[in-house]
Amino acid sequence: MMHIQRSPTIQKIKGGCLCGAVSFEVVNAFEKLFLCSCDQCRQITGSAFASNLFVGIEGFDWLGGAGDIINYQVPEREISKSFCRVCGSGVPWANGNGTKMIIPAGSLSEPANVVERFRIFASEQPAWASDLEQVAAHAEFPESP
Ligand SMILES: [Zn+2]
Ligand SMILES: [Zn+2]
Repeated sequence: MMHIQRSPTIQKIKGGCLCGAVSFEVVNAFEKLFLCSCDQCRQITGSAFASNLFVGIEGFDWLGGAGDIINYQVPEREISKSFCRVCGSGVPWANGNGTKMIIPAGSLSEPANVVERFRIFASEQPAWASDLEQVAAHAEFPESP
């Protein structure tokens, strides 16, 4: 007998932290990716911009290590950061009203399906992170001069 599939199954992909303590699974259907260059995201990531995907909380599950996560909330701002207490990797966190999970795109270990990408707070982008398409790209380390 054939199985009739009523709705298409949305594929799930996995992610986690570098040391492997924290892992999760999420539906691979992300409407928006925000690349945020604001001062807070620069400092909280230690990098040029934060790369965050948003997904409905019903599409997200922890697989392990939820107890190893530390959350820092910027006082009086809607900015927070969750990270693995062992290795410091950025890991997902819930938004203020708990309806969405915010996934650091770099924490995913498989390719993400993203509908639309936005660069935001480009006005606060540091000069060293501007015009990146004009910076020479190397497959690995550049050869020694
Ligand atoms: Zn870790
Ligand atoms: Zn930001």
